[in-house]
Amino acid sequence: MMSKHDSIAALLERADDFQYFGRLLLSRDPVYNLVPKDRIPELIALANDEGIRKAKEIRARYPDADAAGIAEMFDVKIEYSDDKNTMFGVVIHCEYHNKLRRIRIYRRSLKKLRTLIEEYALGDGAVLKQVFIAHEFYHFLEDLNANAFLDAYKVTTLRLGPIKNDSTIAALSEIAAQAFAKELTGVGYYPCLLDEINMRRSGPPVPVARQASNLFGHLIFRIPYKDEDDQ
Ligand SMILES: [Zn+2]
Repeated sequence: MMSKHDSIAALLERADDFQYFGRLLLSRDPVYNLVPKDRIPELIALANDEGIRKAKEIRARYPDADAAGIAEMFDVKIEYSDDKNTMFGVVIHCEYHNKLRRIRIYRRSLKKLRTLIEEYALGDGAVLKQVFIAHEFYHFLEDLNANAFLDAYKVTTLRLGPIKNDSTIAALSEIAAQAFAKELTGVGYYPCLLDEINMRRSGPPVPVARQASNLFGHLIFRIPYKDEDDQ
């Protein structure tokens, strides 16, 4: 059997593999089973490209600013919180509130994930704050564009006679936000790598009402693992 450390080593080898991390994110989406299997690699690639394209666009406009500086130029507030960073068993590292035009970052997440960056020699831990801001800033940009990208790829969740309900695939937005944050900050790994490492270290995921995270809009890394504080 693969040990925890073997599986973390395997993750680290794939740190730059957007298809791998994209599929992990997509497989946790409530509508995953409705996505045609043969279209999955293509949709992941489209979402990834979209994130990179937006990051390059922003970088060209603001060549010297970090993510915090860029957010500031768009009048997006950044707030740091010492509150508990779990909700219904889902760890929240940061979130974007569109009505308040505010990004909130949880210090507990920064602290926790920075120790992983150091332990696995993934580079400068200080960049994590910028990664969080960049990820949420992508969601702000999405709102500006009325989620045009997401609206282009919907799945049908209900068909009942003449009634038909279509849903966007939220994970595509997360994949794009990951790619955006990676490109804008220049980190060498997909940020959700840190969550995957964390999950493998903290044991099997706890069951979670996956849909719950959708109630709160954009939550980074919707991951059902237990936070130490929760146990
Ligand atoms: Zn997100």
